[in-house]
Amino acid sequence: MIYHFASELTDDEISLLSLYLDEKHPCAPHFIFRGAEAVVLSCGMALNIPDSLNDKLIATYDTAGDYQLSSRHYKASTVTIPLRGITIGNGTDTALIAGPCSVEDATMIDSVADTMHREGLHILRAGCYKPRTSIYSFQGLGSVGIDMLLDIRQRYNLLICTEVCAISQLDDVLRVADIVQIGAKSMYDYDLLRACSQIDRPVLLKRHYGSRLEEFAKMAETLMVHGKENIILCERGIRTHETSTRFTLDLCGVEWLRRNLRLPIFADPSHAMGEAYGVEGLACAAMAQGVDGIMIETHPEPHKALSDSKQQLTLDQFRQLHGKLNTIAHAIGKQIV
Ligand code: PEP
Ligand code: MN
Repeated sequence: MIYHFASELTDDEISLLSLYLDEKHPCAPHFIFRGAEAVVLSCGMALNIPDSLNDKLIATYDTAGDYQLSSRHYKASTVTIPLRGITIGNGTDTALIAGPCSVEDATMIDSVADTMHREGLHILRAGCYKPRTSIYSFQGLGSVGIDMLLDIRQRYNLLICTEVCAISQLDDVLRVADIVQIGAKSMYDYDLLRACSQIDRPVLLKRHYGSRLEEFAKMAETLMVHGKENIILCERGIRTHETSTRFTLDLCGVEWLRRNLRLPIFADPSHAMGEAYGVEGLACAAMAQGVDGIMIETHPEPHKALSDSKQQLTLDQFRQLHGKLNTIAHAIGKQIV
């Protein structure tokens, strides 16, 4: 259930309400935050509201379930996320966000940024903290990589999307991130999600490859219980019985998310396919489906990449893909930003 109280509710009244609910419903966590149009109270069940606050209760939303602040039952329209020069989730623009899996050195990240800039695109993706399955694999440049991204951000005026894998990295990542990425493997990291629910920067939450859509929705809700709305969901492929491709891009899931949740949705064909050859086809399919953004891995020399080398497009392949996506965008009344 979600309750809206008049914005005039004082901080003292909010504290008293919270104490009252703790006593009446000790096993039902509740969350209260000051939203744009009301003081919002959200809880997984119906609550006893003290009589003294009845006249300040302005709306009740029967959004029973574990994802409600994120649900379209609560608010029908998609959350829009304004960034420098673009808006995500506005229904007409599709963000083409691209870059290498990892920042490896200043020269390679510069050449990707130069390509993005020349293509007229806005968001560069690149990881500095890499959650690799093998502890012996390249783990990212960390803080040194963040410095390289800072330089790129300034020189090319690009927005930066980069991953955080642990709370201890958050301050460093926030030095440069215009969008903070929470990777698939961290989707269930409750502490990290709680920490990211408190930051002002938009969060891109990738779906765990073993998660059901409802679980993904519940993790998005975890980010929203303190009033955070600037959240992007990213479908990046799930594990099925199929082993010939790295994962399976769940475009049905994209439809379910779009129908049920009010958050913008990106698709990431690169991690789903795991091989460069299928990325174009999947990206075109997602574009035709009308997603809010498409994330592509691209590298000046993919065969030399220190992570995800098989799935990264060359810069030439990326430029060609951009051209194809533009044609589809035009056909469906959208534009790529
Ligand atoms: C990435 O974006 O490079 C990445 C590690 O993706 P995922 O978390 O989806 O595996
Ligand atoms: Mn990667």
